[in-house]
Amino acid sequence: MNLQPVIGLETHIQLKTKSKMFCSCSARGQNDAPNTHICPICLGHPGVLPIPNKQAIRWAILLGIALGGDIAKYSKFDRKNYFYPDLPKSYQISQFDMPIMQGGQLTVEVPGEGEYTVQLERLHLEEDAAKNIHGDDGKTYVDFNRGGTPLCEIVTKPDIHSAAQAKAYLQEMRLLARSMDVSDGDMEKGQLRCDVNVSLREVDENGNPLSDHLHPKTEIKNVNSFKAVERAIEHEIKRQTQLWEMGTPPAETTTRGWNDAKQITTEQRTKEGSADYRYFPEPDIPPLDLTDIIEEVRRSMPELPWDKRKRFTSEYGFKTEDIKQLIDDLALANFAERAMSELGAWLLGREDVTEENVEEHRKKLNKLFCSWLLNKLIGLLAERKIDVRIMKLTPENFAEFIVMLAEGKISGTKGLEVLSSMLDSGSDPEHVMTDLGATRMDDMIALGTIVDTVIEENQSEVERYKAGETKLLQFFVGQVMKATQGNADASTSAKVLKDKLK
Ligand code: ZN
Ligand code: MN
Repeated sequence: MNLQPVIGLETHIQLKTKSKMFCSCSARGQNDAPNTHICPICLGHPGVLPIPNKQAIRWAILLGIALGGDIAKYSKFDRKNYFYPDLPKSYQISQFDMPIMQGGQLTVEVPGEGEYTVQLERLHLEEDAAKNIHGDDGKTYVDFNRGGTPLCEIVTKPDIHSAAQAKAYLQEMRLLARSMDVSDGDMEKGQLRCDVNVSLREVDENGNPLSDHLHPKTEIKNVNSFKAVERAIEHEIKRQTQLWEMGTPPAETTTRGWNDAKQITTEQRTKEGSADYRYFPEPDIPPLDLTDIIEEVRRSMPELPWDKRKRFTSEYGFKTEDIKQLIDDLALANFAERAMSELGAWLLGREDVTEENVEEHRKKLNKLFCSWLLNKLIGLLAERKIDVRIMKLTPENFAEFIVMLAEGKISGTKGLEVLSSMLDSGSDPEHVMTDLGATRMDDMIALGTIVDTVIEENQSEVERYKAGETKLLQFFVGQVMKATQGNADASTSAKVLKDKLK
């Protein structure tokens, strides 16, 4: 028996609007004291009027356009009825038959598998439920700060066939949300949440399904990291395969929870079909005519992450891993681009740069740039627990710093100290160098004097060197570096030393 996993994902992206989906309460109060960002609307008091958040609608359309689906010119909200303590109205305002987008697809790069295009079912807007907090006293408390926060839900077709595809899909979706600047997509903070639907079906030797029929699926809730999504799917495929092999494949749709500690899924409840939710149109919100907003959004579409990825490759020739790190953070990507455009201008302005050697120079410069940006700078930021958005270092100053490294005005040894100080003071490298007394020893006369002193003070090593122990050269270079507090250039020093020791 050949079994093929059939997986569908429902992804909830928390939109980072200022206010909630249907009221003016702050949507960013989830870390504040419980129940301090609430009002009669998000508490579901009778007789109140919800008003849709225009920014949330705009962003949902933006994501819809990016995903290439059909955007609804006319849309509406519906009530999804169910009872739970975190849902004060006993219904969630969501969208049923006229979602913001239908269709669409997302192409992802699956490690070891290549490109795969996941077909989408729909994208709709809805409000988040409140948060249940289980106290140590055995009681459950409800914090309504989160209740009513805008969510954009994206549903795939049952078109995913492995845990690796699912993970790649989710990562690309987060990248999209971040690049479009509509969500921070932090799974740990619940800004990106995923429900995973898994079933199996029989296929022939060529992988073609024996019938179109889909078997009852398992819906796994509470999966809140990329790793957990991968593990939960792998676990569920294994569990269901065993059931199939015993001749008892799952007979009804169930909901299971992911237990991250035990790395297993556990049965929660048999699941309602959509009929059980008794969807009906939200009577308090008039249907939406989106024609104008769609045009407005289309006119101002930001660059899509997959386009940016291609452009970073062709324009800058960065390595794939570097590009991945760069475009994963919109602020970092923007910083890099501004610095790179400064560097490009500098390179073309140099007299020794010709049409023949420009590419070679550019390659070297880009490599230097990437390693200082993605290794050193990111490291310094992590030490300070700050990020690109709030640092004092400007792209212009960073570019100037790279230029000084390239021109040999700052030694690699001294670079980290200079960069670190630029980060703390916000000044340009020239000033920082003066402050640190870190002017590089390119003054050959001054360097010569220091070399003379080093030779004079280490006569016994000089004799050994002259007797053929040439590896002592490193020792002398070390002494020169020590005397100049790291300002001398190691290779120049070595040259001068060799000369004088002849
Ligand atoms: Zn409210
Ligand atoms: Mn939902």
